Amino acid sequence: VPLIKLNDVWKIYQMGESDFAALRGINLEIYEGEFLVVLGPSGSGKSTLMNLIGCLDLPSRGTVFLNSGDISELEESELARIRGQMIGFIFQSFNLIPTLNTLENVLLPLEFQEEDPHTAQKKAAYLLEIVGLSDKKHNLPSQLSGGQRQRVAIARSLAVNPPVILADEPTGNLDSKTGNYILEFLNSLNKKEGKTVIIVTHDLELIKYATRIVYIRDGRIEKVEECILDEGRK
Ligand code: ADP
Ligand code: ADP
Repeated sequence: VPLIKLNDVWKIYQMGESDFAALRGINLEIYEGEFLVVLGPSGSGKSTLMNLIGCLDLPSRGTVFLNSGDISELEESELARIRGQMIGFIFQSFNLIPTLNTLENVLLPLEFQEEDPHTAQKKAAYLLEIVGLSDKKHNLPSQLSGGQRQRVAIARSLAVNPPVILADEPTGNLDSKTGNYILEFLNSLNKKEGKTVIIVTHDLELIKYATRIVYIRDGRIEKVEECILDEGRK
């Protein structure tokens, strides 16, 4: 059973007099443990697709299934609950809270989980260690470089241990060293912890870890490529 399934999905944006179909009949099944890369030029519908996969938006036509359940029937509050449990977002706008330090930013999603404060602190500190920011716990976002902010956002998105990680241009804005580091990290989450990773990008560098590549153009899937995996992955 696919974890996420899009069945003839259309997204139509109303723009004054005219409508614009950003997605035009997308059929896609995503399985647990995949490292899926969605490639396409700017304006091809990648972010729109990501928003639908991440339950941030609903299709104009067609159906989105998550764990076999039709999410288009759900109330926003229910959708938000599923998002919170299932999906870690790594989006380019880092959305860190500027008045909270690094540790507090990572702690934030844990506070909504009513986790015991001591455990939450330990978990947040551990996540910052994983992304290599133990020494920046008390820095505010404004006191971090772009790459460091991105890493804080990653630590925060992992705090609730979501089975699915969605990343929109995760290496966008980053220098190649930091970008590579983040990619390696996403790869290890996928290969070692079995997390489902879905990345949209126009950066060809990112395909080296993909188990499958979906090419999107003008709101349609142009091509799907299975990637050859080394032994032990299958
Ligand atoms: P990509 O992420 O591949 O650059 P997007 O999904 O952001 O593509 O956008 C696909 C198309 O839909 C673009 O032509 C964009 O201008 C249009 N679009 C995106 N969001 C909106 C919106 N909220 N209202 C109107 N048009 C939009
Ligand atoms: P990048 O090219 O990765 O974005 P920056 O040039 O922004 O890196 O930052 C380089 C180093 O300077 C980083 O280690 C960061 O911690 C530090 N730094 C950047 N901005 C500030 C700041 N406002 N206050 C303190 N340290 C900063």
